[in-house]
Amino acid sequence: MTALQTYLTALAPGIDIVAGCAGMSEDQLRAAGAPNKTARTLLTLADALFAPTSFTRLQRQAVTAARDRAHPLPTLEVIERYASRAKTKRDAWRLRVELCRTAADTDEMEKLARKKLRELNPPAPPRPGVRIRRRKDAPWTLAITGPSSLIADLESSLDEDAPLDSVAELFSPSDAAPAARPTITTNAIITLDELDRIIDGDGEEITIQLTNGARITGTELVSRTLAERGLITLVHPFEGAVNLYRTERMASEKQRLMAAAENPVCPWLECNYPADKCQVHHLQAWRHGGDTNMANLATCCPYHNGVNDDDPNAPPIRGRLVRRRGRVVWQPPWADPAPAPSPDAPVPPAPAAPQL
Ligand SMILES: [Zn+2]
Repeated sequence: MTALQTYLTALAPGIDIVAGCAGMSEDQLRAAGAPNKTARTLLTLADALFAPTSFTRLQRQAVTAARDRAHPLPTLEVIERYASRAKTKRDAWRLRVELCRTAADTDEMEKLARKKLRELNPPAPPRPGVRIRRRKDAPWTLAITGPSSLIADLESSLDEDAPLDSVAELFSPSDAAPAARPTITTNAIITLDELDRIIDGDGEEITIQLTNGARITGTELVSRTLAERGLITLVHPFEGAVNLYRTERMASEKQRLMAAAENPVCPWLECNYPADKCQVHHLQAWRHGGDTNMANLATCCPYHNGVNDDDPNAPPIRGRLVRRRGRVVWQPPWADPAPAPSPDAPVPPAPAAPQL
């Protein structure tokens, strides 16, 4: 016989090999030439099938069946792997007897054993609830388990073509009032150089770690932060025309938002009137031919809008708002209107605080 034949033949009467090591220690088995893993496997099987038990009748039936079927050692290992997972010792012995009595090769035995064990240990019904799975560097999972009617209702509200987007819309509708939207109350950890890059438009390249465990890009951070204040449109390109030229005197809502973003308070010197309560002012007055275009618009408090020297040909009294080097600034009445004074010119004294 070749060594291979000897090996395979020796595997066949698996139960006799196991019987032979009953009562031996791991050391003794190793001393007899068994590799470590083999020694442990043999001892596990010997403990299971030959150790004293109160189920002597079932034990005897299992050993007899294993010998009659001549199950090789690997098949006995499979049987024991599943039988040992039964909930009670009685169930374990019944499973050993049933499997040992079955004529099957190792693969078939594995399938059968798995099926029988599942019958003995049926999986618990899923518990209702919402569970989250947070993965490092991979998408997260939010699993919802509940009554079939609820889950079916939820599923029917989803857009088949964009299920993820519709879930986001269900949880935090984009048209909800800012107060109704969930507020992020977590710390975003961001370094100054990353902040610079986000401001420069490289936000998509930056990953920001939040203290709630999530990771978002710099662009998402900007969107979410502004979304909380109801100004999400400011970080998206405006659709359609922003400039209205001479078609409309009144600034549009988009223009009002953009003007407020440019000047969060009235740009008149020393005036802190908030843009949300400001009017939108034409730098070159509408009646003097000024366009309703962003370059010609500025937020301005009602008081300063009223005292602004709108007529460029009339003698200046209180000064006026002008755009100089892209920025809206107050031009004092004593300034020479043309050419625009150097930005390095000394700052004029503040006018008396307006009565509002
Ligand atoms: Zn003002």
